[in-house]
Amino acid sequence: TSKIYTDKDSNLDVIKGKRIAVLGYGSQGRAWAQNLRDSGLNVVVGLEREGKSWELAKSDGIIPLHTEDAVKDADIIIFLVPDMVQRTLWLESVQPYMKKGADLVFAHGFNIHYKLIEPPKDSDVYMIAPKGPGPTVREYYKAGGGVPALVAIQQDVSGTALQKALAIAKGIGATRAGVIPTTFKEETETDLFGEQVILVGGIMELMKAAFETLVEEGYQPEVAYFETINELKMLVDLVYEKGITGMLKAVSDTAKYGGMTVGKFVINEDVRKRMKEALQRIKSGKFAEEWVEEYGRGMPTVVNGLSQVQNSLEEKIGNQLKDLIQKGKPKS
Ligand code: NDP
Ligand code: MG
Ligand code: MG
Repeated sequence: TSKIYTDKDSNLDVIKGKRIAVLGYGSQGRAWAQNLRDSGLNVVVGLEREGKSWELAKSDGIIPLHTEDAVKDADIIIFLVPDMVQRTLWLESVQPYMKKGADLVFAHGFNIHYKLIEPPKDSDVYMIAPKGPGPTVREYYKAGGGVPALVAIQQDVSGTALQKALAIAKGIGATRAGVIPTTFKEETETDLFGEQVILVGGIMELMKAAFETLVEEGYQPEVAYFETINELKMLVDLVYEKGITGMLKAVSDTAKYGGMTVGKFVINEDVRKRMKEALQRIKSGKFAEEWVEEYGRGMPTVVNGLSQVQNSLEEKIGNQLKDLIQKGKPKS
C-alpha cells in the first residue's frame, strides 16, 4: 500500500504568492478557484469566451481573464476544461503565451498519458485528481473538510513538483482527507476502466438487462423498476458506509445465498474476459483514439445514446414513480 499524504505532509508556503491560473470555471474549475483563493493563494481564472462561466465567476466575486492574459504571468497553469477541449486550448491559447517553465497541472491524466498534449521539457507536470465532483470539492472544503484525491508527477524539473502538488491538494482541501500517490498512466487507465466497466457502462447495462428480462417475461414494469433499478441505491449506500460485508449483513439469508451463487453464474468467466479486453483497448490507446474521433464528429454516438435512454421504457416508468419515491423520503 502506498503512503497517504495528509495536511502534515503538505505546506502552502511552496506556492504562496505564485500566480496560479485556473483554466475553466465548470464543475472542478469553480471549486478549485474558490478553494485555492480561500486558502490565501494568488488565483486568476482564465476563460476562452465571455459565456456562462464568465458570468458565474463574476457573480462569485472573481474577475475572469481571457486565457492568454491569465497564463501570461502564471507560475502554475491548471487545466480544468473538459478533457476533449484541453488539446486545442493548449495549442491555441496556452503554449504560445505561457512563461517558460511554468507548471502544467491536470485533474485527470488523459491528455498527457495519450500524448494529446506534449508538454515542454522545462515544465513541471503534475496531477491532483479529486475523487468526487466539483460541487462536493467546494462544499466539503467550506465545511472544513475535503474530498480525497490522487496525486501524480509526470515531469519534475524543479525537484519540488511533489511539494507543489501537495500544496495545491492542501489548497483545495484534499489533504484534510488524504492524498494517494499514483501515476498518470495508472490514474488514466483505471479511471477509464472504472467508468466503462462498472460505474457508468456496466451498471447501466446490468440494470437495463435485468429490467428488460422481467418485462419481457410479463412482469409489471413498475415492479421491475423497483427491483432492478430503484433499490440499487440503498444497496450501494450500504456498501459505501459498511463495505460489502455490511451490505451482506443487512440483506436476508435468502438474498445472501442467491446472490453468492447466481451472481457468479451471471457475471461469469466470459464477462471477466471481456473486462480484460476492455482494459486492453484502454491500455493500447485504441479507446482514446476512437473517442477523440467520435468527439471530432460531434459525438453522434453519445447524442443518440442519450436520446435512446431518455425514451426507454425504464426511464418513463422511473419518471412516473419519481413523485411516489420522493414522497417516501424522510425530510431532513
Ligand atoms: P466542465 O465540463 O465542468 O468544464 C466546463 C468549463 O470548461 C467551463 O468553464 C466551460 O466554459 C469550459 N469549456 C467547455 N467547453 C469549452 C470549449 N469548447 N472551449 C473553451 N472552454 C470550454 O469540466 P469538469 O470540471 O468536469 O472537468 C475538468 C477536468 O477535471 C477534466 O480534466 C476532468 O477529467 C477532471 N475531473 C472532473 C471531475 C468531475 O467530477 N467533473 C472529477 C475529477 C476530475 P463555458 O461556460 O464558457 O462553456
Ligand atoms: Mg473517475
Ligand atoms: Mg473519468
